Parts: sequence; C-alpha cells; structure tokens
Amino acid sequence: MVILGAGHNGLVAASYLGRAGLSVLLLEKNDYIGGASTSQKVFPDYDARLSRYSYLVSLFPEKIIRDLGLNLELRRRATGSFTPYIKSGTHDGLLMSNVDEAVSRRSIVDLTGSETEFEQMKKFYNLSHVFAERAWDSMLEPLVAKEEMKRRFDSDETSREAWRSMAEEPIGRSLEHYLQNDLVRGLVLTDAKVGIFTHPQDPSLVQNRCFLYHLIGNRTGEWKVPVGGMGAVARELEQAARKAGAEFRTNVDLVDVDLGSETKSVAFNADGKNENVDARFLLVNFGRNVLAKYSGKVYQPEAVDEGSVFKMNMLLSRLPQLKAKKYPSEQAWCGTFHSDEGYEQMNASYEQAAKGQLPDKTPCEVYCHTLTDDSILSPDLRAKGYHTITLFGLDAPYSLFAKDNERTRKEAEKKFLTSMNQWLEEPLEDCLAVARDGSFCVESKSPVDIENSLGMYHGNIFQDSPTWPFASLKEQIGKWGVETEWENVFLCGSSALRGGAVSGIPGHNAARKVIELVRSNTKSKHRNVAATA
Ligand SMILES: Cc1cc2nc3c(=O)[nH]c(=O)nc-3n(C[C@H](O)[C@H](O)[C@H](O)COP(=O)(O)OP(=O)(O)OC[C@H]3O[C@@H](n4cnc5c(N)ncnc54)[C@H](O)[C@@H]3O)c2cc1C
Repeated sequence: MVILGAGHNGLVAASYLGRAGLSVLLLEKNDYIGGASTSQKVFPDYDARLSRYSYLVSLFPEKIIRDLGLNLELRRRATGSFTPYIKSGTHDGLLMSNVDEAVSRRSIVDLTGSETEFEQMKKFYNLSHVFAERAWDSMLEPLVAKEEMKRRFDSDETSREAWRSMAEEPIGRSLEHYLQNDLVRGLVLTDAKVGIFTHPQDPSLVQNRCFLYHLIGNRTGEWKVPVGGMGAVARELEQAARKAGAEFRTNVDLVDVDLGSETKSVAFNADGKNENVDARFLLVNFGRNVLAKYSGKVYQPEAVDEGSVFKMNMLLSRLPQLKAKKYPSEQAWCGTFHSDEGYEQMNASYEQAAKGQLPDKTPCEVYCHTLTDDSILSPDLRAKGYHTITLFGLDAPYSLFAKDNERTRKEAEKKFLTSMNQWLEEPLEDCLAVARDGSFCVESKSPVDIENSLGMYHGNIFQDSPTWPFASLKEQIGKWGVETEWENVFLCGSSALRGGAVSGIPGHNAARKVIELVRSNTKSKHRNVAATA
C-alpha cells in the first residue's frame, strides 16, 4: 500500500491500515510530515513554533482519537470571539464567551440595546446544533442518500427548518430572518466564508457547506487549541503511524504513477536516486488537481473550488492594547478577533474582490495561540512576554494574486495590518518582534503561496470546495466518498467527499474502504479454497 502525500489524513489512514496488518509506505514531496497541519520555527531567530497553516481543531472525531490511542490535548479558549466596534464615537467590543453565557448576553445588549438579538442568535444556532446532532455520526459511515438524510429531520418543525435553512436555502436567508444587527450578522456569516470565495445568497450553497463544516464538529462545533500547536497533532499521528509499521520518505519527487494497472506502480526520485515501488492499493492524500497531473486527465474544477485566504503568522514582543477598554486585552485576543467583518461590509468586500480588486476594507480574523497555550514558546520568550498571533483574511481569492503574487501579497499585508490597527492603541508594527536583519517577524501566505507549498488547488484550504455530509448524486449512495475512477485507487485527503479541515475523516474512510476490500477478498479466497477442497 502506497500513500501519496503525508498530510494528517494520510497519517490517519496509515495508522488504521498498519494496525490492520497492511504494509504502508508514505511518499511526501516536502521535507516534513503533516502537510497543512504543521508547526514550524517560522522566524529562525526566535524559538517559537507557530502553526503555520491550520491552527484550531473542531472536526477531528473523538472516535479516531480513541481508536488510534492518540494523546492529544485540545484546549478550550475562554473567549469564543471578540468583535471591536465604535458606537457614538466610543470604542467598544462584542465579546462572546465560551464559558459564561451571561457575559455574551450582556455584550449583545450593550451593542443592540436589548436581549432580542441574543435570543435570536441562540435560535439560529440551534438550527446548526440540530443539524450536527442528526449528521455528525454519519461522517464516519458510508454516504447516505440526500432523501434519507432529509428524513432524519422530519420529526418536528425545528428539525425540518434546520434541514431547509442549512441544506436547501442559501444560509443568508435564515441568517437575515433571525438576526437584525449588522455586526452580529457578520459575526455569524464569517463561518460560511472562511477559506472560500462566496456570499450569503450564493446559489451554489457552498457557503452553507462551509458553515456546516464550522458548526458540526463533534456535535458542538467548538474550535479548540491543539496544545503544542498543530504540529503536535501531526507528530502524534506520525508516531501512531510509525508504531503501526508505516514507513516514510520525504523530499520525494513523483515521476510517474500508474493508476490503471492491477498492480499500481509509482516511480519517484528521492535523494537524487530514481526508485520504483509497486502496490496493490494507492491512497491519494493530495488533491484531485495534483492527481490529474499524474493521470494525464484534465482537471476540471468548479468555480466554487477557488481558494480565498490570506494567512499572516506573527511573533509579537508584547500584546497590543486595545482602544476598547471594557475587556482586558488578553480576554479579547484569546478568542477569534474579528475586524471589518460586518455583514454589509463583507458583501462590499466580496463585490470588490469579484471585480478583481483587493477590497478597500479587508475582512479578517485573528487569534493569539499563546494566551491559551504558551508551550509553543521557549521559556525565555515566555518570560519576556512574547506572543504569537495568526491572521486569517477573507475575500482574498486566488485570482487577485495570480498575476503578480509578490506585489499583491505586499499590498494585502499592508491592508490587513491597517484593518487591525484601527482597533489598537499602538500600531501592531510596534509590537512585532524584529529579526536580526531588522525585518518584522511577519510571514504572509496568499492562495498562490499555499498552492505552491502544499498543492492545494488555487490555495483552497479544503483542497477543493467543502461537500455535503450526504450523497449529492445517486451513484455516491452507500460509498465511502473516497472512490476514484481507478480500481484500488482511493482519495484519503481533503479532496474526498466529506474531506477538508483537520478532521482525519477521509483518512479514516479511505482506510475503512481498503480494509473492507481486503477482508472481502480474503473471505472469497477462503470460500474458493473450501469449494476446491
Ligand atoms: C492557511 C490555512 C489555515 C487553515 N486553518 C485550519 C484550521 O484552523 N482548522 C482546520 O480544521 N483546518 C484548517 N485548514 C484546513 C486544513 O489544514 C486542511 O484541510 C487539512 O490539513 C488537509 O489535510 P490533508 O491531510 O487532507 O491534506 P494536506 O495537508 O494538504 O496534505 C497533502 C500532502 O500531500 C503533499 N503533496 C502535495 N503534492 C505532492 C506531490 N506531488 N507529491 C507528493 N506529495 C505531495 C503535500 O505536501 C501535503 O503534505 C487550514 C488550511 C490552511 C491552508
């Protein structure tokens, strides 16, 4: 068994398959294991290991953690989100607490003048909770038909509404029905836009799928901090895979992949040597776009597959103070800090980006890992009060960067810093750590950079657009969602149906598919032997 790519999903698949007794070899192009789940010493002068791409975990099923005996600590953030705003000339902020509902309620009352919006928000989120209850467990099972999934919601009016608003109508409809305040609407909408280029009324419903990805994880949809950074998750998975007998090759240049023959053969170059390996099964961890390069077939993406992300990793010598004084800065920064993410503002930034311009105001969200888990810093940096923050920018589609990535990246970086600075007592630049060569400790990644580093199609953080938690087509019913047109070649990464995010789900599902095939082959061999005897 060969696994092409060693992202976290490849590692999950390798662990299950190794434990089932199969021999597994992973071939990875980069010089490290983990793909988009990695921590790196991004700024060589400082001993801080930042989650370079993905940073929070919600969708990784507890079942996989138990099955593989993983030792992962996923820590709750005390603050869910903080959204600064100016009201009557005064800086204030909307704070949603993960630990104290009264704090969130009071904060919404301060913003809107009544409790109505808070109650409406709870009603709206109840719809996604109902969805999570009905759909979550199915993620680790073969795909059910859309009609079958719909039937699971046919028990009462709230459940039927949950189905309608999440799976049939653009999410903007129910969002606008329940919520009236622009900032609250925007706060909710961000979960439908993270990583993809869309808007609330998008007829493709890709925004609904993205929203569900952000709300159904382990039934709660809570996003937690992986202690030790995302690299700790990958490291734990790598260890589990090695323990199960998997072998790894990094810095691999795939030369040729024979997908069609009964015995799959992979030619690659590693350490300057050409090598060849044969396998009965091939699992593909990278996206369909990369696979197309080896199959010789033209990759035909849909418009919704385009990635939309601007990621900035920063090391700070101190946490900036906020203009809003109601909450301590630490409380605000440890949740997801939203900037320029009002509902109408994001409709405007979407329109501008769709016309090929970087938006005037660039929506983004920022969070400080080290306030929840400072183990990613050396004791020295901890003692000096250093912190890491990560910024995730929206409405930054690949097409904006494709022509002149260097120039647009610089321009975007400035805009995102300006967006943040409007809420700070002192510019973020004054708080950034400085490298020995005098440069600021900021690393920015556009969708073009992400595609170049990881192969993700047009920088789509989910490899391609997120899919429904049920079969959209008749031929998918009862399948694992990992099948390809080639026999014994399966997707085990985010490009599989129900792939995307740090979830291990497609890795698990691909492994289950292979194990089923191996077992059914073994059974039929036994039957044949018995018949001959
Ligand atoms: C900036 C960013 C932020 C994100 N934030 C979050 C987050 O906070 N939480 C979350 O849940 N998800 C997040 N995601 C999404 C999540 O990281 C990915 O969906 C997930 O990690 C993908 O895992 P994977 O194993 O399926 O694929 P990948 O991690 O993409 O792994 C594929 C592997 O294949 C390798 N590869 C590619 N081409 C070749 C080749 N030709 N030959 C050999 N190997 C190859 C790659 O190097 C990589 O190691 C984020 C992603 C990005 C980019």
